[in-house]
Amino acid sequence: MSDCIFCKIAKKEIPAEIVYEDEKFLAFLDIHPQSPGHTQIIPKKHYRWVWDAPNAGEYFEVVKKIAKAQRKAFETDWILSKIIGDEVPHAHIWIFPNDKVQGDKMDLQGNAKKIKAAL
Ligand SMILES: [Zn+2]
Repeated sequence: MSDCIFCKIAKKEIPAEIVYEDEKFLAFLDIHPQSPGHTQIIPKKHYRWVWDAPNAGEYFEVVKKIAKAQRKAFETDWILSKIIGDEVPHAHIWIFPNDKVQGDKMDLQGNAKKIKAAL
């Protein structure tokens, strides 16, 4: 989909604070974070819903990898996850630490660095 913002992020046509990338998936920080380090994980290929994407197991392994890095980076066991799907019509999973963690949620660059260092 040519007008899809997440496809553009996946193709690097729009900048984002990317914390993880492999052949099939991309993880980047949400620009409207609910807490420090709030990350979106998307398949690079366009699928409307998470349930349309193949490789659900692989997809979730990536989600888990980021969640574990967030635990380390923000010193908490409590990582929330949300699959809603109405915000952008491209499959995405949200994961974010609980809002009691230390840090500035708007410091996207600093928080991306922390997650990457914990991966
Ligand atoms: Zn898309």
